[in-house]
Amino acid sequence: MSVAAEQSTTDPALQSWLPVSPESDFPIQNLPFGCFLAADGTPHLGVAIGDRIVDLHAVAVEGFFDDCCGRALLQATTLNAFLGAGADVWSPVRRRLWDLLRVGGDARLRNGRIERMLVKRDGAALRVPMEIGDYVDFYSSIEHATNLGRLFRPDAEPLLPNWKWLPVGYHGRSATIVIDGTPIRRPCGQRKAPGASAPEFGPSRRLDIELELGFTVGPGNELGRPIAIGNAANHIFGFVLVNDWSARDIQAWEYQPLGPFLGKSFATTISPWIVTLEALEPFRVPATRQDPAPLDYLALERNSSYDIHLAADLQTRRMHERGVPPKRISQSTFGGIYWTAAQQLAHATVNGAVTRPGDLFASGTISGSGTGTQGSLIELTWNGERPIQLPDGESRTFLEDGDEVTLRGWCETQGARRIGFGMARGRVEPAT
Ligand code: CA
Repeated sequence: MSVAAEQSTTDPALQSWLPVSPESDFPIQNLPFGCFLAADGTPHLGVAIGDRIVDLHAVAVEGFFDDCCGRALLQATTLNAFLGAGADVWSPVRRRLWDLLRVGGDARLRNGRIERMLVKRDGAALRVPMEIGDYVDFYSSIEHATNLGRLFRPDAEPLLPNWKWLPVGYHGRSATIVIDGTPIRRPCGQRKAPGASAPEFGPSRRLDIELELGFTVGPGNELGRPIAIGNAANHIFGFVLVNDWSARDIQAWEYQPLGPFLGKSFATTISPWIVTLEALEPFRVPATRQDPAPLDYLALERNSSYDIHLAADLQTRRMHERGVPPKRISQSTFGGIYWTAAQQLAHATVNGAVTRPGDLFASGTISGSGTGTQGSLIELTWNGERPIQLPDGESRTFLEDGDEVTLRGWCETQGARRIGFGMARGRVEPAT
């Protein structure tokens, strides 16, 4: 290692010798991890930079990481083993990549067989980068929880008595987590019209999105050994965008008394690139002040969040056919979320439950308080009462077949290079 060891990998002045456009989500300050299908059809781990993917498998073969990471971790077909290795491995690997890619850094990659090690990102087949053993979805935005309380239980207090004491969540279905671009089949299920004496079965008529972020667990914990809140950051690798597609009619009929089930488990879309906590460090902000003060196991003296901008865009089939660009239907921010990632992880393990490398913890829908900042259609249209107007005279309350939703996320602040999360897209297909 050179003098670069003292330099921050997120220094905004640094440039890569690879061309990276100023508006790219993936400058050298980001270096998010993912997985793609190599030319021979096998999954390779990779890191995104500009319009390229660094093929970690191919770079590891050259021995460039031999002093900081076992080759097997980078030549695996999923990220799980690397995630389990912890920050003592993640950090030097990230720094080595940064050094190999920066102007004035380690020249071995630049002078090597570049075409084998740098794959075009456009057109690459991306995969969910880790095997997700368990998937948890929280409900941690106070604005979202308040709005949904008002909509689902109009005659009661919007927040239930436990909401400000613990991060409410449920266990989701990890097997139906899909990568950006995977079509979303409209689910069928039981739905019961207000006032009807019995439910009927059929395709959901109230298909919705949920604009969320999720974090990936690094090293897990053993059975009976909770993760202390002060140590939670060491167990978190990074964040992805999450669209927790929701069938509101199925959800409304099934959710009491045990919570969400088939209204949620048919599909959850994530973005392909995991943005690491190290890359997010310049965008760390103090967490929202909590009142009442949380119990000790959820209390962190300097609890923090990340200032991440989020947006959802909608393009109907007709807009697509006529070449009308997607319309932004929601714009929100993550920084003010009530329960933070550290609190979610501490809470989920406080009873001794196990987490494993690759587990996904979603935040819950992230809504703000202003017009157009709500992260779901049920809030944006107030239960379908106020349709969203679209170009060409179309409107939407909930999603129709052929609609495509794209989630985006990015960070920008003074004194830092803008970084982004890429996209989480899904187009609705008719029910079977
Ligand atoms: Ca959700």
